[in-house]
Amino acid sequence: MKVTDTHAGTNTVPALGAISESDQIVAMKQMLLQQIRRSAFVFRVDCGGCNGCEIEIFAAITPIFDAERFGIKLVASPRHADVLLYTGAMTRAMRLPAIRTYNATPDPKIVIAYGACGCTGGIFHDLYCVWGGTESVIPVDVYIPGCPPTPAATIYGFALALGLLDQKLKARHHKQAPDEEAAVTHPNVPLRLRVALEREARRMAGYRQGRILVNRFMALLASEDPTPFPHRLQHYLDKEDDPRLTEIFDRLNDVVVEH
Ligand code: SF4
Repeated sequence: MKVTDTHAGTNTVPALGAISESDQIVAMKQMLLQQIRRSAFVFRVDCGGCNGCEIEIFAAITPIFDAERFGIKLVASPRHADVLLYTGAMTRAMRLPAIRTYNATPDPKIVIAYGACGCTGGIFHDLYCVWGGTESVIPVDVYIPGCPPTPAATIYGFALALGLLDQKLKARHHKQAPDEEAAVTHPNVPLRLRVALEREARRMAGYRQGRILVNRFMALLASEDPTPFPHRLQHYLDKEDDPRLTEIFDRLNDVVVEH
């Protein structure tokens, strides 16, 4: 693009910064391309909010944040949707349309409760015509809090939803034989410690991420590497360089010390 510098009277070309993608967005693209193998279509249901949430959703899909660049697209019919995005408090008038929308969407589907109102009813929670949050009538998979959530939080919530969608697409049902024993993960870690670590990880990082993280922690703990565990842990955290992971693993290390 050419612009005229009126002071100098010459044409100059402004320098454009290098455009790069964060690791999280690269991972989302990989998941869509390799695991889900298609775009994820989102249908939005406004159950009775102030419209602030809708403005942020449209900010998330329009060019500045541009969720469509990794295949997340709003659609006009629940019959085409993979993800249902419920905004606003669950009002009496919208309760049945919300349920009908849920039933009209093919399985496997992900339900996102969006915004403070979608999560809990928000500032409208105690109105005579409000049932509460989305979960008062529909089973919810992902909560995106905020009043309204920012576009970045919206895209982060979509990333969580894609992880769950991948799980649902590949869901397997195992029927246990009468004499079959369940395989124990990390049998070298004592049962009481294993349970305590899992509980703490899930408390801090949620059910799915907590399970992933505690498995990584226990693999480190049960490793046959002769290096003392605190050194191994520190080396691992230095390599990962993620303050959230450091906080969770430090707390899990406290649980190990307490036991
Ligand atoms: S969460 Fe806030 S912005 Fe969103 S609908 Fe409720 S009051 Fe409006």
